[in-house]
Amino acid sequence: MQLRIPGPTPIPPEILQVMSRQMINHRGPQFTEMIQSMTATLKEMFQTKGDVLILTGSGTGGMEAAIVNTLSPGDKVLVVSNGFFGERFADIAEQFGAQVERLRFEWGYPADPPAVRQALSQDTGIKAVLVTHNETSTGVTNDLASISAVVREFDKLLLVDAISSLGAIDLPSDEWGCDVVVTASQKGWMAPPGLAMVSVSQRAWQANAEAKMPRYYWDFAKAKRFLEEKGQTPWTPAVSVFYALAAALEMFKREGLANVVARHIRVGSKAREGVKSLGLSLLPEDSHASNTVTAIKAPEGLEVKRLLGILREEQGTILAGGQQRLDGKIFRIGHLGYVNEEDIEQVMEALKVALPQAGFRSR
Ligand code: PMP
Repeated sequence: MQLRIPGPTPIPPEILQVMSRQMINHRGPQFTEMIQSMTATLKEMFQTKGDVLILTGSGTGGMEAAIVNTLSPGDKVLVVSNGFFGERFADIAEQFGAQVERLRFEWGYPADPPAVRQALSQDTGIKAVLVTHNETSTGVTNDLASISAVVREFDKLLLVDAISSLGAIDLPSDEWGCDVVVTASQKGWMAPPGLAMVSVSQRAWQANAEAKMPRYYWDFAKAKRFLEEKGQTPWTPAVSVFYALAAALEMFKREGLANVVARHIRVGSKAREGVKSLGLSLLPEDSHASNTVTAIKAPEGLEVKRLLGILREEQGTILAGGQQRLDGKIFRIGHLGYVNEEDIEQVMEALKVALPQAGFRSR
C-alpha cells in the first residue's frame, strides 16, 4: 500500500513497534528522560537555541497555541495567505478577537515578499505577521527567508505554520528570526498524528508576558515551567505518540538533517518530473513548488474522484484530492517523512495505469 497523502504519512516498521510498548508514568523518570532527549533533538531540527515545546494535539492546536500565547484581543495582525491553511490561520486569529488583515495571493501562487513590505509600511499598527511556510493545499512553498527578512525590517512578531515543511524542508528558525514555528507529528516526522511541536523565541516570550487572549490547555508558559522544573507536560501527554516521535527523532539524527532535506529535494523533483512526463501540469510553477507535496491540475476530461477511487481500489495507492475551491480541480501527492525515490516511481506506475481509466487522454 502506498499512502501518499500530505499527512498522516506512513510510519517505518521500527516506529510502529515502539508504539505497542506498555504505558509509563508520565510523572516518572522514564518520561522525563524521554521528553528531555526529544526536546534537545527537536531544537536541532528547528535550528533554534530558543525553546521547543511538545504539545498533545494536532497542528491546528499548535496554530491556536501560537496565537493565543502571543496576542491580545484587538491586536492587529497581518495574515499572509495563499491557500486553505493560510485562511485557517486568519480564521483562528479572528476567532480570538484579533483584528485581522488578510494579504491574499491567488491559490497556486507564492506570497510576494515586496507586497508584505508594502502592507507593513502602510500600517504601523500591525503587531504580528502570520504566514504559512508550505501551503499544503496548493503545493507551494513560500519564500520564508525573504518574508521573514521583511518582517524583521519592521520588527514585528512572526508566527509560522511550518506544519508540512519542518523536518523535510530547510527552515533555520533562529537565522530567519521566526518567533513561533509550529509543526505536527504526522507530517514530515514519520510519526502518527497527536503531537504539535512549537518553537518559542525570546521575542515571543516577551509578547507572551503581555498577551491576554484566553487560554488554558494551550499555555506556553505553563508548558515551559513543567518542562524545565519537572521534565513533564502540564496535562496527560499522548504517551504512545511520544514513543513514536522519540524513535523517529533517533532516525532523524542517524540520517542527519541535511540529508533529510536533500532526500526531500530529490523526491520532490522526481515527483514533478514524473507527473510532467505523464503529460500532466503542476498547479504551481516549478520555482516555488513544494518538496513535500505536489499539486497536479486535473486536465479536461479527468475526473479526480474517479482517479482517486481507481488508484485506491486497483493500485493500492492513496493520493489526496483538492481542498475547498480546488476540490475536483487538482489532486495531490504527498511525499514527506518516510519516503524515497522508489515510492515515487511506484506512484507514477500506478498513475500510468489509472489515468486513462479515469478519462485522461494524453496529447
Ligand atoms: N497547516 C498546514 C500547512 C497543514 O498542512 C495542515 C494539515 N494538513 C494543518 C495546518 C492542520 O494540521 P492538523 O490537521 O494537524 O490540525
